[in-house]
Amino acid sequence: MFGLRTFANSEIGMVKISGENCIGNQRSAMGNVQFRTFNPVSNKENDWIFCEATVEEINEAAVLSSQAFKFYRNTPPAERANFLDTIADEMEALGNDLLIVFCTESGLSESRARAERARTIFQLRSFAGLLRGNDWKRTSIDVAEPNRTPSPKTRLTKTLIPLGPVVVFGASNFPFAYSTAGGDTASALAAGCTVIVKSHPMHAGTGELVGSAIIKAAIKTGMPNGVFSNLNSKGIEVGVHLVKHPMIKAVGFTGSIQGGRALFDLANQRAEPIPVFAEMGSVNPVVISPLSLIRKAEFWAGRYADSMTQSAGQFCTNPGIIFVPESSELDLFSQLLTEKLEVIENQSMLHPSIFATYSKKKEEVLTEKSVELISEKRSEKENYMGHVLARTSGAQFLENTNLHKEVFGVFSLMVTYKDEVELTKIIEQMEGQLTGTIIVEPEEMPTFNSVIEVLKYRVGRIIFNGVPTGVEVCPSMHHGGPYPASTDARFTAVGTDAIYRWLRPISFQNFPDDFDIES
Ligand code: NAP
Repeated sequence: MFGLRTFANSEIGMVKISGENCIGNQRSAMGNVQFRTFNPVSNKENDWIFCEATVEEINEAAVLSSQAFKFYRNTPPAERANFLDTIADEMEALGNDLLIVFCTESGLSESRARAERARTIFQLRSFAGLLRGNDWKRTSIDVAEPNRTPSPKTRLTKTLIPLGPVVVFGASNFPFAYSTAGGDTASALAAGCTVIVKSHPMHAGTGELVGSAIIKAAIKTGMPNGVFSNLNSKGIEVGVHLVKHPMIKAVGFTGSIQGGRALFDLANQRAEPIPVFAEMGSVNPVVISPLSLIRKAEFWAGRYADSMTQSAGQFCTNPGIIFVPESSELDLFSQLLTEKLEVIENQSMLHPSIFATYSKKKEEVLTEKSVELISEKRSEKENYMGHVLARTSGAQFLENTNLHKEVFGVFSLMVTYKDEVELTKIIEQMEGQLTGTIIVEPEEMPTFNSVIEVLKYRVGRIIFNGVPTGVEVCPSMHHGGPYPASTDARFTAVGTDAIYRWLRPISFQNFPDDFDIES
């Protein structure tokens, strides 16, 4: 067994990373732009050197992906299911090497690496299971009624077909579950789309290893060359080129509002606009009721502190705002929450640039004149942080939208509210969110129904007496929300329904009954 966060250099040195791009089944490193990943725990660059994809390599990957799509789109679902299961097997077969690289490039713990790998494998197998079922294409048939009056009805059949080659942007905060073989890739491959991953530069080595597992699986299961490519990038140019490429037909993205919006705009400026499914920022508001504060202040302070600090606050579902009633219990709750936060160990962030953004954004909020600092725990170590808890009033929050912005990291703003009328007004004014949480006691439900009603139109998921972190991967999960939480609130990025982002409906009119619409 290796340690929780740091590995011996000898162990890390044993892992072979070539730094090359993978264009279909070929390795390629034609460019001069090189970069390294960074270990935020040791605060040092890693030894592996990566080669950014050139314009020629990007074009080659796009052409190959488009050619492969013509075959891949017609592979029977059972064969695609076998491909996805084999990717899961190959990921598992990478063993400890994969965990070592994950931790070395992200600073995340070994237990997190194991849990995230298990989730990623589960996601791949879930899509395989979906493809083996019968009804995922939601095919509908309207039989012909030639004798209908006043006009006859023709036979119509509707099914779903894949969009084409998809570009997936690896997410910094999920090196496995939302990167190379993560939810976007798994759902797109399940749909019958070919995939080009723009690997996240913070974990390019993790991406290379996972990419090699996908290629091995593709060869083993007889998938066409070009069904998958993995391209390295140091800056934004590779992603920009890919999104503009006429052979690319859709994009999956997880990251900042700024990045997601830029790619969305770029895709819409193309001669042929294409969909960008971007999952972006969210402050995931949590509402705590007066009676919950009176009866269970300590319990909820503990749950909230755990949720706020998970993985150094680097979750899209991390709670950044908690609405607390103005009451005599308020100071006690602030004190309890501070006590719970104080005992949680400082954690490293994913990268110095993410730590720098966190430091800048939390200072911006703290320098707003209406904001009072409740508690802050700093760390002496580079890239490490404890927490920041601040407070403002509902009236100030309504006036100043700077207070609504996401601070990615362990940061929460406690917003006091007078009553449910003020609370509903505040929620109505908030931007779209991935989640909203209400913590209430049973007898308060009639009062809180109005809060739930407004929350429904601001979020993609409402949590009742819980916390927002911890996303279940299952068909009923919705992970998406009104803008800017995502660019299209109708679709989820988590769970098997994520497949519907990469499919479009097609109707067949007046075709003979025995015409096979699936071929
Ligand atoms: P990011 O800056 O949005 O970048 C994500 C990916 O998009 C990267 O591969 C980046 O490419 C690319 N990209 C960004 N801007 C682009 C543009 N204008 N044109 C083309 N490509 C672009 O996110 P990040 O690097 O993962 O983290 C930075 C910040 O994003 C964090 O501090 C945090 O605030 C936020 N974030 C939020 C969530 C969330 O779930 N809410 C998740 C992750 C990150 P390059 O890296 O090659 O530049």
